[in-house]
Amino acid sequence: MTTENINRIELKDIVRISFECKACGSSVALKPETWRTGGLKSCPACDARWMFDGKPMQRTVETLLSSFRAALEISDDLPFTLRFEVPVAK
Ligand SMILES: [Zn+2]
Repeated sequence: MTTENINRIELKDIVRISFECKACGSSVALKPETWRTGGLKSCPACDARWMFDGKPMQRTVETLLSSFRAALEISDDLPFTLRFEVPVAK
């Protein structure tokens, strides 16, 4: 028999979204509901550029975070509960 331990995480369970700088290893964490387009243009510790105006990678991240915030705002009105499943760390 195989067993699998899974954590189910609802949108409102995610209290912070963290950004870890690949250049220096520092991280900053934001509440999802506070995300605004155009934020976090660079690492607050080493000033490495994180976002480049108009570049596809910036639009992708901003779309993801804006969509997350929008889904969080309507989550109580949805006819289903949206959950992410992640394996329990061993
Ligand atoms: Zn950095």
